[in-house]
Amino acid sequence: MGIRVTVYGENVHEKKNRTVADLYPEGMHAAIAGALNRGEGIEATTVTLQEPEHGLTAEKLAQTDVLIWWGHAAHGDVQDAVVDRVCDAVWGGMGMIFLHSAHFSKPFKRLMGSPCNLTWREAGERERLWVTSRNHPIAAGIGDSFELENEEMYGEPFGVPEPLETVFVSWFQGGEVFRSGLTYKRGAGNVFYFRPGHETYPTYHDANVQRVIRNGVNWAYNPAARIADPSAAPNITVDIAPEKIVERGPKLHQDGEEGLR
Ligand code: ZN
Repeated sequence: MGIRVTVYGENVHEKKNRTVADLYPEGMHAAIAGALNRGEGIEATTVTLQEPEHGLTAEKLAQTDVLIWWGHAAHGDVQDAVVDRVCDAVWGGMGMIFLHSAHFSKPFKRLMGSPCNLTWREAGERERLWVTSRNHPIAAGIGDSFELENEEMYGEPFGVPEPLETVFVSWFQGGEVFRSGLTYKRGAGNVFYFRPGHETYPTYHDANVQRVIRNGVNWAYNPAARIADPSAAPNITVDIAPEKIVERGPKLHQDGEEGLR
């Protein structure tokens, strides 16, 4: 069995905007999943905002090794209970890739704990992505750089924490630069942010973009068993401490109690 990928698409502009519908007649999520399924070792399925629980039930997440998220117009419509469930899965070891405007999605902002803001301009500029981490597995097969003829500009400062590694830096025709490929570890989960993918351009049909997303899936995949309750905070009493100790001094809590949150 290959790596099980779920692609979440909010599927809004594909239904409302003729340009987007022409580029992605089955939806952007379907184009992304289709590209992943054309190669070996990955089995990609899709879910959308419009499905009950956005398709991201506990069962679906349990069967997802890597979740890919594309959203833009309807971040606010994503149910908080689903966001909780997605973040729990990441902390427990699920890999996650956030694409383009998912920088403002609820799960990305939760996992980053920062504003995740940036500057932007919709002017069809050329974007050149430079590889900044030599031999990083996410940049495998890319060379020194690659170009997208038309993209939306995202500019620094990007309001995210310092990443584990910066894999790509973008230059735009208008002069701005942006950290376009960032890796994070959140709990047991590997998280990758990848910038390109404005919906009015054919970005997800680009072979280099498809290759980076595939590489990102392989990088984010964690074969270890998912941690069942990654937020657990158990009370380790003296009788079960790794070394023999005697309790001393005043105390606030009873042995084994839940503790305060
Ligand atoms: Zn955009």
